[in-house]
Amino acid sequence: MNSRLSASLVNGRRWDGHAFIPCNLHIAAGRWSERPPRGAPTLDLAGAHVLPTLVNAHDHLELNHYPRTRPREQYANAADWAQDVNALLDQPSYARLRAHPYEAKAHAGLVKNVLSGVHWVIQHGKPHPYLFQRAHSIRVLSAYEWAHSVYLSAPQDVQRAHARATHNRRFYVHAAEGTDARAAQEIDTLERLGCLDERTVLIHGVGIPAQTVTQTLKPRGVTLVACPTTNAYLLSALPTLTAWRGALAIGTDSRLTASGDLWDEVRALLDSFGALAWEALHAAPHALGLPIPPAFAVGTPATCTVIGPGLTRGNIQLVLFEGQALWGQPALMSALGVRTVPATLDSTPIALHPLLARWIRRATLEESGFTLSQPAVRRWW
Ligand SMILES: [Zn+2]
Repeated sequence: MNSRLSASLVNGRRWDGHAFIPCNLHIAAGRWSERPPRGAPTLDLAGAHVLPTLVNAHDHLELNHYPRTRPREQYANAADWAQDVNALLDQPSYARLRAHPYEAKAHAGLVKNVLSGVHWVIQHGKPHPYLFQRAHSIRVLSAYEWAHSVYLSAPQDVQRAHARATHNRRFYVHAAEGTDARAAQEIDTLERLGCLDERTVLIHGVGIPAQTVTQTLKPRGVTLVACPTTNAYLLSALPTLTAWRGALAIGTDSRLTASGDLWDEVRALLDSFGALAWEALHAAPHALGLPIPPAFAVGTPATCTVIGPGLTRGNIQLVLFEGQALWGQPALMSALGVRTVPATLDSTPIALHPLLARWIRRATLEESGFTLSQPAVRRWW
């Protein structure tokens, strides 16, 4: 995508660290600018939220085409859920879903993220070259170390992955995903392995007492990624997130356990913890040491998602990615002078940049709630 976008986005609201405040933003030749570019269109955002680079800090991109699965009503530990699901995966309905090529499965996960306005996603799994293609309309973090979990990974693998990590190449691991004693003990295990420091990012952390967070983990620089809809679904519990304030990011996990997309997670956190959700969403690039410039920094490529008044993907007004208008409400895309392809998202008409439409058409697995108009057939009679 190489058309250079110039526009002014007025009457939006951006997060200042404590609250949303009115803002006018300007883009000149695809970059944030101090002044309105001459002769460029002005878009009235009508008080919508303007969010800088949106990060989904935890996903399993290749698992988003599975149905939400919970063989038992409630679990005390995700290790038991993993064991139950492992047995299910050989049943024909799951085996059919497993049989799709990795690229097709991962593409479905990327499409889910793009259609929720996410710009960066952190994969939990083995790095695969498909994830890091520049042609994607989204970035997948390539600089990471990982181990699946304290309960599934061999201790020496956890230790080795952590040893390879740096400040800008963090070590991600599922930990304390439960409400029982086993979950809390996983933190003792990580401590014994020497794996709790500023390079460590724990996923879930439901079973960690608030005192451990404030007295040990936060002082060491450990970060948490919260996936609230997954925790509520499997464990009927959430981590002690207030204790993690300032060292927190938000992830979706996959739809095998999550209820939808990043906005479902944000709404779940807003319900339980209020403004902490907005803090965590905005803090992710810094908290995780990601190569993302400060929000709206003049001279950097314009990336943002405009959403409102509701907080669902159907309320997304506009998504800009690295200086391009990727998709949005038809009236806004048309005001920007972008040639578009029509589509429908959760019954709302949207308009897509043609290259995004072409990229989505590569999908062989359908995104529920999304329909792309077929290209007109050119006939000669
Ligand atoms: Zn996960």
